[in-house]
Amino acid sequence: MTTATPSKTEKARPAKPAATLEQKFARLGMRSDMDFVLHLPMRYEDETEIVSMRDASLRGGSMVQIEGVITECDIQYRPRRQLVVTIADDTAQVVLRFLNFYGSQTKQMAVGARVRARGELRHGFFGAEMVHPGYKMVNQGAALPTALTPVYPAGEGVSQTVLRKAILQAMSKVNWQDTLSPALLSRLGLDGFEASVKLLHNPPAEVDQYSLMEHSHPAWERMKFDELLAQQLSLKRAQAARRNKGATALPVVGELSAAFLMNLPFALTQAQERVLAEIRADLKQDYPMQRLLQGDVGSGKTIVAALAAVQAIDSGFQAVLMAPTEILAEQHFRKLAQWLEPLGIKSAWLTGSLKKKEKELALSLIASGEAQLVIGTHALIQDTVQFAKLGLVVVDEQHRFGVGQRLTLRNKGVAGQVPHQLMMSATPIPRTLAMTYYADLEVSVIDELPPGRTPIVTRMVDQQRREEVIARVHAAALDGKQAYWVCPLIEESEALQLQTATDTYSMLAEALPDLRVGLVHGKLKPAEKQLVMDAFIRNEVQVLVATTVIEVGVDVPNASLMVIEHAERFGLSQLHQLRGRVGRGAAASVCLLLYQGPLGGTAKQRLMTMRETTDGFEIARKDLELRGPGEFLGARQSGEAMLRFANLETDQWLVDKARALAIELLQHDLPTVEAHLQRWLGQKEEFLRV
Ligand code: ADP
Ligand code: MG
Repeated sequence: MTTATPSKTEKARPAKPAATLEQKFARLGMRSDMDFVLHLPMRYEDETEIVSMRDASLRGGSMVQIEGVITECDIQYRPRRQLVVTIADDTAQVVLRFLNFYGSQTKQMAVGARVRARGELRHGFFGAEMVHPGYKMVNQGAALPTALTPVYPAGEGVSQTVLRKAILQAMSKVNWQDTLSPALLSRLGLDGFEASVKLLHNPPAEVDQYSLMEHSHPAWERMKFDELLAQQLSLKRAQAARRNKGATALPVVGELSAAFLMNLPFALTQAQERVLAEIRADLKQDYPMQRLLQGDVGSGKTIVAALAAVQAIDSGFQAVLMAPTEILAEQHFRKLAQWLEPLGIKSAWLTGSLKKKEKELALSLIASGEAQLVIGTHALIQDTVQFAKLGLVVVDEQHRFGVGQRLTLRNKGVAGQVPHQLMMSATPIPRTLAMTYYADLEVSVIDELPPGRTPIVTRMVDQQRREEVIARVHAAALDGKQAYWVCPLIEESEALQLQTATDTYSMLAEALPDLRVGLVHGKLKPAEKQLVMDAFIRNEVQVLVATTVIEVGVDVPNASLMVIEHAERFGLSQLHQLRGRVGRGAAASVCLLLYQGPLGGTAKQRLMTMRETTDGFEIARKDLELRGPGEFLGARQSGEAMLRFANLETDQWLVDKARALAIELLQHDLPTVEAHLQRWLGQKEEFLRV
């Protein structure tokens, strides 16, 4: 039951171009009739029973449905304007309280009319009451539903009533033909598709409600199995398709690699060795690698990428490294050039801010193949960039790029060949989630930090204690250390954010006259940015005031103090990235999270998580828990999740069954494969493949 919608006459606002219903459905992933049919309830409400008001009162707290006649209806002001309706049955009376209501509702609620209301009954100051119950006007003796009422995942502007109607309509149109034969079903012990779907949309009142809620009912099991089967089929097909694509094998781990490793001032960690071996093996294949390299901030992904690039170059091909910001691209360029130039490797550098001449030069070096290693920002994906013989694409901080951007770069290979692709990310996606969202992706994990790092100590500090924080920065600087001071994120206004950064800079410069304070933000020209960064790297600047431009990748090992203002405004992964700018050298590092109280529930949880752990995987898990997978990955990253009903962890036994059947069907029964994928993925499959 839903709260009555306000009547049309009252909402006569000027029309603005609203999304059509079709667009709203599409946002929920509902396009074809089968999409509608497979839009299954997330829970159910039991409206099959009416409880007397006295019994409802005794139950207290839980959801109940009551029915009674209106004895009073008032608009009251205490303190907010509200509609207060008293209803009574033979046993007691209950107050219904509405804080948002329309004039039409007041008229509906005439004394003597009969209302069926559903909500939590509480004992308020004026007796038993329901705040904002779902309700409808009924006649005496109006029939009760015989099935549980489904509640669907809904979106803005799509009510339950509209959804239910659309789904019912679609159910009368689709082809119910089971994708699995009766023989298969009985062998697997599964229920039929049509019966399962219909039961889930309209469960009979006597069904085991617990098993419905828990997704353990046989009808759910069938849905989960089907979904997992579609996932396994699509995964296996994507793998096969990738193996059928040609790529240049990059087999040479030769002199360059050896010389590179010799020149490094440190040895690789075991984790770096392990992932390097995985990547080296992939690069030797003549089909394209598609590998995600995950490793916490500071775990040393760059060197692994450099070694992969060296292998490509040793094998006679070009490698490209794309980074999401100019600062990061420049830093990579310098670092890699410093490592690789002594080996005689020529690199080129391309960003949007190059002067025309410089750009033309870079483009020609790339096109002729003279530049063996190319580093840059998304400027690299432009049409004008053509490679002579691109063998390897590395995308740093890959979650910062859209699927389309990554694809474009991958399409710049030698004709007919797809370059190998290595994506790097410090935002760890729990493995199960990665499998759920990416159809075909190998994952390597660096799960160890280089030795000699002292753990970062993180503190939460009320911003009223700013003076103490400034004193601390001062002391650290006198001690030869350096600090970042990150300005608050102001999402609504870039201008305001800039203003705050400038203000903070002036404030700190004044408070710390014997230190050099620098300022870096997104509006600076790249050359100016670089000037400040260089001064910071050389410790000519001790305190660097920064906006979130330094969020990813920046590596200045001598910096050991990080102050983040208004830390409560940042997301967990952003905080983790920012904090990762310190703790890169041997000095003990400190991160101070300045916050403005009082803290809201999730903000507090975020900051406490930061205080408790520096483990990126742990933080990612917490982030996932606080935000849910859709937001966690971001829509543009994930497309639509392939798994809506099954859970890779708790439904492992179903995964195994589905995997076995997928292999069998791919070998012996392609029509079933087609039918099943079509039903469950429709056009979504293409998207999941990139
Ligand atoms: P991230 O994984 O966050 O991209 P970087 O590649 O920037 O990390 O590495 C962080 C720092 O650790 C760099 O200064 C790098 O030179 C250093 N580093 C990387 N690997 C090792 C290692 N095996 N031993 C010591 N220092 C290392
Ligand atoms: Mg990095």
